[in-house]
Amino acid sequence: MTLRKEAFLTAFSQPAQCTSSEEFTKPDAFFGANVFGLEAMRKRLPSAIYAEIEQTIEEGKRLNPALADVIANAMKDWALEHGATHYTHWFQPMTGQTAEKHDAFLSPYQKGHGINEFSGKMLITGEPDASSFPSGGIRSTFEARGYTAWDPSVPAFIIQEPMGSTLHIPTFFYSYSGEALDRKIPLQRSIQALSSQALRILKLFGNTKAQYVRPMVGPEQEYFLVDARLAALRPDLILAGRTLLGKASPKGQEMNDHYFGAIPPRVLSFMQDLEHELLLLGIPAKTRHNEVAPGQFELAPVFEDANSACDHNMLTMNMMRLVAARHGFVCLLHEKPFLGVNGSGKHNNWSLCDSTGQNLLNPGNTPQDNAQFLVFLAAVLQAVHEHSSLLRLGTIGAGNDHRLGSNEAPPAILSVYLGEEITDVIMHIIEPNSAQSSHKQAMEIGISTLPPLPKDSSDRNRTSPFAFTGNKFEFRAVGSSQSIAPVNTALNAAVADALDTIASALEAMVAKGASIQEALQTFLPQCFKEHLPIIFNGNGYTQEWVHEAKERGLPNDNTSVAALGRLTDPAVMQVLTKFGIFQEREIHARMDILYENYANTIAIEGRILLDMLQTQVMPCVRKALGEAASSCHAVRTLLPESDNSAEESYCSTLQQELSSLHASCETLKQVLAQTEQQQTVRAKADNAQTHILPAMAACRLHADALEGLLDDSLWPLPHYAEMLWVH
Ligand code: ADP
Ligand code: MG
Repeated sequence: MTLRKEAFLTAFSQPAQCTSSEEFTKPDAFFGANVFGLEAMRKRLPSAIYAEIEQTIEEGKRLNPALADVIANAMKDWALEHGATHYTHWFQPMTGQTAEKHDAFLSPYQKGHGINEFSGKMLITGEPDASSFPSGGIRSTFEARGYTAWDPSVPAFIIQEPMGSTLHIPTFFYSYSGEALDRKIPLQRSIQALSSQALRILKLFGNTKAQYVRPMVGPEQEYFLVDARLAALRPDLILAGRTLLGKASPKGQEMNDHYFGAIPPRVLSFMQDLEHELLLLGIPAKTRHNEVAPGQFELAPVFEDANSACDHNMLTMNMMRLVAARHGFVCLLHEKPFLGVNGSGKHNNWSLCDSTGQNLLNPGNTPQDNAQFLVFLAAVLQAVHEHSSLLRLGTIGAGNDHRLGSNEAPPAILSVYLGEEITDVIMHIIEPNSAQSSHKQAMEIGISTLPPLPKDSSDRNRTSPFAFTGNKFEFRAVGSSQSIAPVNTALNAAVADALDTIASALEAMVAKGASIQEALQTFLPQCFKEHLPIIFNGNGYTQEWVHEAKERGLPNDNTSVAALGRLTDPAVMQVLTKFGIFQEREIHARMDILYENYANTIAIEGRILLDMLQTQVMPCVRKALGEAASSCHAVRTLLPESDNSAEESYCSTLQQELSSLHASCETLKQVLAQTEQQQTVRAKADNAQTHILPAMAACRLHADALEGLLDDSLWPLPHYAEMLWVH
């Protein structure tokens, strides 16, 4: 029996792996048990110190460094009680992954003795030998130091392992000269910018109670599970996280029988185990279900402030891979693991919440609340309209390019779906007497009440990249493997910029003696009218929309390389530097890192494919061809009178496909070498996109045809049908 068949048979009969523990059924009891959060701190810190750290966490106040020793000591005691032997500064470098370097608490003391040590300094700063992380040229090799700094606004946590646990301290990562080398610093800066600008609007409405405004984020995470024994036979899945060849399964997603179907028992026990781990870490896992493609699933948490949501999503992705392995699965977070069925995304649900708990994107019950809602709505429309290129930059990546705009995910064109009711309100504000509007009487902003708006309109438009869904916006173009930090940084920056211009306009009118209602009555119709072109409630998957969007002047950068080119556009640079979210130098560095990452990703895929074709596919085709040719020859000599045309034609088809595959491989080799020789990262990325990707597609065409022609017992790679349908 071939390795492939053996793996398939074991995978097929694999029972669900259940750890029956009563603990699992009491999530309220263990939620957050491995987190050094407010609850744990209150118990262990002197009340004055607790009050200070609480303010840091809740209100973002700067922490007095003098308190670090006391906090570190309490944190250490707590960690030791939880079985920790080591601690690590946990950070998010530009690799797209998280990074950690563990240090033992134990320090040698006298001969044969040791003590557990953890000081305030060890808590606050670290200096990992981080010279190999991407810096885009910010650190020259002689000054390669990178530093980590504690982010006290999100709690430290423990990752449990059977042989000892590790205390993880969330940190920022920056260079010797203070430039951001991670994704958390720009996100944090954008959150602050957004808060200051939003408070200006609240102040105009007479709200002096709110101390801050925070973006709230709920990321819905899609993923695939593949049996580990099958995945182990596919170098493409192991090294690239996606299949680079593979004939479509005769049964795909056309019956929609997987979507929201009963969760297979083996998958369900993976989900339960995963949720247990996430809840221990204080990650509010909430929803689980089968997704559209066979083998595809989704996990959604309850929304949190953007900083926590971003950390938690990174942790969730790590945990998914880890727990999957425990259950004999490989978890694929890639945006397009399988051609021909849906890929995976990450819907980034986003809203604004002030310190009193008010959701600023909630249409209110009073005229005053409604007027305020309309201002924030206008700001989001303006943000998406004016900073579409910036927002698109939050979703770039070689993986996501396979998905955006391919009739399964929103197009790369950004538009906003508002639904009929709100669009109608806006039309009425622009043109009170228009025939289009269903509102009979004139609406005075801030005086009359908005008509009741449906909180949860059922006909939500799934084809829109940016949809208003009742009291939040859902940005759907994010890729499943991507950190949500860049997209939220972009969104916060764009909305902060819009709020800034809106606040300035309104403040000027109020300064001249207008009431806020009067100011809005003049301002909102103009503002909505100007940004009307960004509203699109129709089907975003059609070709007509692509044409119409062009007429409306909306950018359509449908590849990452094109989108990335916009990073240094003056308008993009301006909004990022204006609020100090990035310095110019950081932007240029990031651009280089992203080009390089893109080029490397594709070049690696090209090399994997070439290897698989040369060492796995072509040898087995040659073998098949040899067998077929000799049987043809035998028939021809022994039975010269018989009709042998079917066999002859089979042989010649195999021969032709093999020659074409061989020729395509030669081209792939050439373009890989040519990309390697390019002098700049941008040229490498360009070359990868325009030459390597088409060369890979040409190879795949022949390989997939051969997969459908060959004796199945010869084919070494697990088929799509086996990987997608066995759970
Ligand atoms: P869907 O129908 O798209 O799955 P859900 O209502 O289930 O939408 O919500 C999906 C995600 O949106 C969840 O993570 C949820 O916590 C998050 N969410 C709900 N309300 C808000 C909000 N006000 N701000 C941000 N995220 C939110
Ligand atoms: Mg959703």
